[in-house]
Amino acid sequence: MSARIDLHLHTTASDGTLSPAELLALVAENGIGLMAVTDHDTLAGYRELAAMGTGGVRLLCGIEWSARWSGGEVHVVGLGMNPDDAVLHERVACQQALRPERASRIADRLAKCGIADALAGAAAIADGGSIGRVHFARYLVQCGAVHSEDEAFRRYLGDGARAHVRCEWPMLDAIAGWTHDAGGVAVLAHPMKYRLTRTKLAMLLDEFANAGGDAVEWPLFPAGQQKDTQRWLAKQLHSRGLQVSLGSDFHGQDSRWNRPGKVAQSLPEGLEPVWTRWLPVDGVPSP
Ligand code: AMP
Ligand code: MN
Ligand code: MN
Ligand code: MN
Repeated sequence: MSARIDLHLHTTASDGTLSPAELLALVAENGIGLMAVTDHDTLAGYRELAAMGTGGVRLLCGIEWSARWSGGEVHVVGLGMNPDDAVLHERVACQQALRPERASRIADRLAKCGIADALAGAAAIADGGSIGRVHFARYLVQCGAVHSEDEAFRRYLGDGARAHVRCEWPMLDAIAGWTHDAGGVAVLAHPMKYRLTRTKLAMLLDEFANAGGDAVEWPLFPAGQQKDTQRWLAKQLHSRGLQVSLGSDFHGQDSRWNRPGKVAQSLPEGLEPVWTRWLPVDGVPSP
């Protein structure tokens, strides 16, 4: 792979800690030629950067959709949509409307756990950006209820924890359709993060492929590790005709997150990259 790419990046428009301009500076510093801003359920970060101009870095319109699957939540990265598509706007607005509603339910649960004012606290931290659990986690650290964001997820916000609420996100197949309707490609984000058994993950891949899903993010496996899992996953993608995408899921310069461009440096044989459609023939991204 000659060109450096990163097709999964967050900004302050959702739960990232860098503004779009700060993110671009870091992306350029890391030698990335093709990037996508993929904030949770919003195009605001992408828009800000597109309006600003990205110099030598080619920018794709992106989003990380929250979707419902089998009683849980999965993430679908939409790439290359037409940002001026009116229907896409309506759908993003619907998705956005679910967040404040979920936030107030999370705050009610936290209040029952003796933690007051969490809605106002999280909203202040989100500072006009799309409100999410990370903002609650930061508030819980700020007010001294927990020592770390990780503890906040473990004790309160994570799946099955005391202040976890189920959100009525659209179903996986609807989200894939929304992405296609706007001219984009649908990528299943971070497949290993859902902690599914192989049987369950195979079911998810089946449903995603049947819904027209185009690609799956290839994880950054620790060097030389989980070879068996890598072989298994490659076979699953290959047999379903799914392509692969690469993204760091960068949220900020804190040690929990990989820096922009920190993605797998090679793909298993036989898997097709999703990004060649945005590259000129010589494989180098152009602005
Ligand atoms: P939301 O979109 O509001 O449901 O929040 C999901 C986000 O929470 C993910 O994109 C991560 O940024 C973050 N997250 C999930 N689990 C953890 C965790 N254990 N520690 C810190 N952040 C987490
Ligand atoms: Mn996030
Ligand atoms: Mn995600
Ligand atoms: Mn993400």
